[in-house]
Order: sequence, then structure tokens, then C-alpha cells
Amino acid sequence: MPLDSKRFLAKHIDALPPSGIRKFFAIAAQMPDAISLGVGEPDFITPWHIRERAITAIEKGKTSYTDNRGLGTLRHAIADYVGTHFCLEYNPDSEILVTAGVSEALDLALRALINPGDKVLYHQPCYVSYYPGIAMAHGVPVPVPTRARDQFMLTVDALRSAWEPGCKVLMLNFPTNPTGAVASSEQLKAIAAFAQEKDLFILSDEIYAEMTFEGEHVSIASLPGMAERTLFLHGFSKAFAMTGFRVGYACGPSWLVHTMTKIHAYSLLCAPIISQEAAVEALLNGAESVAQMREDYERRRDFFVRRLVEMGLHCHNPQATFYAFPDIRHLGLSDEAFSLRLLEQEHVAIVPGSAFGADGQGFLRCSFSTSYENLIQATDRMDRFVQSLAKT
Ligand code: PLP
Repeated sequence: MPLDSKRFLAKHIDALPPSGIRKFFAIAAQMPDAISLGVGEPDFITPWHIRERAITAIEKGKTSYTDNRGLGTLRHAIADYVGTHFCLEYNPDSEILVTAGVSEALDLALRALINPGDKVLYHQPCYVSYYPGIAMAHGVPVPVPTRARDQFMLTVDALRSAWEPGCKVLMLNFPTNPTGAVASSEQLKAIAAFAQEKDLFILSDEIYAEMTFEGEHVSIASLPGMAERTLFLHGFSKAFAMTGFRVGYACGPSWLVHTMTKIHAYSLLCAPIISQEAAVEALLNGAESVAQMREDYERRRDFFVRRLVEMGLHCHNPQATFYAFPDIRHLGLSDEAFSLRLLEQEHVAIVPGSAFGADGQGFLRCSFSTSYENLIQATDRMDRFVQSLAKT
């Protein structure tokens, strides 16, 4: 009798759906002339001075484990950086943990906070890992819809209708992947008041903060009374184009950072030392590169969104990130069908909005993290495709 894998696999993991993003990349990979607007990572290579610091670390033989919490120099640099850029104050000894990306920090936070059956609110459409992350921690995901008419901002009305007894954590991601939504300090104040009223703990993933084009990014952790009930999550992947280094950090109350460090010490031990060395350089000397990349993303955003609107797609202007999230509900085909046919007919890879949760249905996520030349070609092809739909 063949071995019954179902008997061995953990049920809550086996039940998770595969990511809706990867299948389009697999098809695109077979097409030599395909243009991908699908990836969620910078197309820039990590700035040279940061790579050089990693090379020097290897040359100097820095190949050991580090303190579980991360290098002291890095934790101090993080404390200074978040103080300057986010008006946040954390003790590098007890309130900062260096992780293998925001991904690990999210996983640690959810595992540290969730007892089986605890409910976690999160706004949708959202980053593909939120729902699985909650489920893997034995939590119950409670999605809160956000709407195009509100620029995908999370409203307190929507929060109030989704809230149910047993909700313990609220996950926030401003600026938002996949919609590019940003939150003003007024909007954050209203969310903060709701969190205080319902005694919710906040996980605030601010990984796209540096890619804010209009206005100032504000962290909910900086609002009065919020530092004690917020974990601030940030990293190097997007702002410094360091996805492959796998380094990020979490800052928050010492009781939570301590408990997360316990899980991190038993499961990962520490983030890679070479990446931590590079991260110190990024924080100390990376501001100019970040500003240049942001300028470039903004120029691409302006062009890309203008072209989407010209071809007849409704698209709010993303005020941050490198994602546009056009609405195709008026075209009479699903976001899945649109994405698949666009790929087959015109060899342009995008991601259907429904990959980011049910509230993304009828939308597309297009990443403009690719060259201006690619964007010109991709939008010409998309335009041709949209016009061909109008004729059928
Ligand atoms: N959070 C959001 C909202 C993201 O979009 C991503 C990556 O796309 C991550 C976290 C993961 O970041 P990291 O590379 O630091 O693990």
C-alpha cells in the first residue's frame, strides 16, 4: 500500500493554497521576449558600497554566528535610523531584534502572540504571506476589505464591521503591497483609537516606507500611547534593494522582543553576519542611493499610471511602493483571465489582484520595478490587448 502522505502532513499547512503569483512566472519563464511586471522586488542591484562592505566582511573572516539579537553595531544603527526617520525610540539592547527579513520578523511575532484560535485582523488586498502566516501560527485570519474608492485606505467603519470577539492582533501594511495605499496621520490616529478601544496589538509592516512619493510617511508606533502596543517591522529588501541578503528587524516592547528572540534563537540562531555587516553600511551611508531609487520609481510611476489611464483602465495614483493596481471590472473578464490572456497574447506578465485576497478581484497588480524601456514596451502591448478586448 502506498504511503499516505495526508497522515503525515500537518493539516493546517497542507490546507494552505499555493501562492497565486508563481504560476505566471513559470509560464513567462518559457517566453524569451516576455516582460515581467510581476515581481515584488527592486530591479536595482544593491548599491556598490553596501556590496563592498559584505565582501570586506568575508575578506576579514567575519564568518561566525552573532548575538541572537543581531550585531550590537547594527542594533545601534537601527535605533538611530528609526529615531531619525520614524520618530521612534527603542533600546538597542532590549527592544530591537535583527531577523532574516521582515518575513521572519512577521512569523516570529505571530508565533509569539497567537494562541490557537486567536483572531488576527488584516486589511485586504494584502501581501500574499499574511493569511498563511496567521494560519501557520494557528491563528484565525479575519480580513478587513479596503476599496478603490477609498484609495485602498483602511477605514474604521470597515474595521468595526469586521471585528469580532476574540480579535487580538491587527496587522497593518502602509504603504501597502499590492495597492500602493498610504495612511495619513489623521487616518492612523483613527485606527490607533480603535486599537486602543478594542485592546488590539498592532504589527506594523512598514517595509515600503522609504518609497513614499507624496507627503511624509508616518508610523502608527509614533502616535501617543501606541509604542507599547505596536511592533514596528522594517527591513532592507525594498529601500536598499537587498532582497537576497535576507535581513530585516523588529522593534517593540521588550516583553515581545524577548519572546520573539527566544523563538529566533531556537529556530534560526541569528541573521547571517555578512548581511548584517552590509545592513550597517546601508543605514549609515545609504541615504543617497535610496533617494535616487525613489526618484526613479516615481518617474516610472508617473509614466506607467498615465499610460494605464490612456488605454482606458481606471487606476488610482499609488502614492508609494512600486505597484500600480488598475481596475478592470468594466472589461467583462476576470483578473485571472485577463492576466493569462495578456501573457499568452502579448507576453506581459502581471499578477491578478485576487492573488492578494478576495478583495483584489477585478484588479491587477503591475510592478513598475523594471526599466523605463520595458515599461514603454509593456504598456504598448497592454494597450493593444485592451483595445483587442474592446473589439470582441
Ligand atoms: N512585507 C511586505 C508587505 C512585502 O511586500 C514583502 C515582500 O514582498 C515582505 C514583507 C518581505 O520582506 P523581506 O524581504 O524583508 O522578508
